[in-house]
Amino acid sequence: MAQPTFSTHVGMVDILPDEVGKWQKLERIIHEEAKRFNFEEVRTPIMEQTELIARGVGQLTDIVSKEMFAFERGDDQYVLRPECTAPVARSFVEHHLDQRGGTQNLYYIGPMFRAEKPQKGRQRQFHQFGAEVIGADDPAADVDIIAFMMAIYDRVGISNTTLKINSVGDPESRKAYTEALKDYFRPNLDEMSEISKRRFEKNPLRILDSKEEEDQPFIEDAPVITDFLTEETAAHYEKVKSLLDSLEISYEEDPHLVRGLDYYTRTAFELISPDLGAQDALGGGGRYDLLIEEIGGRHTPAVGFAAGMERLLIACEELDIQLQEEEMLDVYIVTLGEDAREWGVQHLPKLRNAGLSASMDYIGRSMKAQMKDADRENARHTIIVGSHELNEGKFTLRNMKESEEEAYPFEEILNKLTT
Ligand code: AMP
Repeated sequence: MAQPTFSTHVGMVDILPDEVGKWQKLERIIHEEAKRFNFEEVRTPIMEQTELIARGVGQLTDIVSKEMFAFERGDDQYVLRPECTAPVARSFVEHHLDQRGGTQNLYYIGPMFRAEKPQKGRQRQFHQFGAEVIGADDPAADVDIIAFMMAIYDRVGISNTTLKINSVGDPESRKAYTEALKDYFRPNLDEMSEISKRRFEKNPLRILDSKEEEDQPFIEDAPVITDFLTEETAAHYEKVKSLLDSLEISYEEDPHLVRGLDYYTRTAFELISPDLGAQDALGGGGRYDLLIEEIGGRHTPAVGFAAGMERLLIACEELDIQLQEEEMLDVYIVTLGEDAREWGVQHLPKLRNAGLSASMDYIGRSMKAQMKDADRENARHTIIVGSHELNEGKFTLRNMKESEEEAYPFEEILNKLTT
């Protein structure tokens, strides 16, 4: 085949008609679970001011320092959103959503953009679903967020997962821990990776995220943050764990789980799947009590999660989970001749208005080709119309699965198909 003139940008893919069914099904599951958990959908623009993302996600993160798709227009600087927590927080502050009263339980579904090196499970445009509880610092909110996330995987049928949790502390415990980490890594720094050397100065916690071989022995024995938590934050973490126990949501504690984003405080969690290969995180999240203040709002504690839709679909494939429902067309009108085609054009709307999905041929194909097309479209029935049928006022209704057919007036066909 000839090489096409244009193609998608590297790391960005088309979701083609044959695949879109599973996306629609997944989106439906997310909307239904959101309803059960009493979350409301919010839709924010794809572009946000660069400064919001820089502050919200953190200047020192990989996302902000090297993965942003950035634009300038006049004096304004924008990026394609790399995640949706900062945009949702902006929307909350901008529209004074706190005035609606109570906590705001919000969820979103949509494309995100990060200029990462593409590989399986890692794209430059990918999709996330996620949720935020804004305005509550109670551990019950953390657990509700985790339960909502888990409920979606349960509905899909992905159960072979590990939920890892940790507490990344509050500013006070983080400060003490950062000092302890620096003291621990300092004598070994010469033997560690270049990335970790850089992180040592700017954000030593992120050394724990390192995937570099030479760092692993040092990371293994590093001090753990849970030993540095203030009394209040330690109690919060204990409560989260006991609530998870009582809801029978199993988890593993991972004292080195820090996650890539700077705005997390206290609870951090990640959902891992062994079916994903190198990119094994299905989703993750945590508490971000400082973010809303950071972007200009009042102090408002919040907790949320974000999960990758492509990775969920990869896990489905690996586990042989059929997310796609069989798409059926109710009726295909097969026409022979110009008059029959005219009849088809007149009667298609009648079928559709009765709530049926209906289609016909527009390019004058042979009857055989139209029957083949009806099969390809997975049609339950065909209505076969030729000059004989038009003269008789009776049209052949064929049940495609049973291979049975009989002629009826159109009104009777409509009746049969809708009752
Ligand atoms: P994060 O916002 O980095 O915590 O990401 C949350 C989830 O989004 C991850 O666990 C992945 O499932 C998914 N994700 C993040 N980055 C990508 C990417 N570049 N391509 C595909 N999925 C991604």
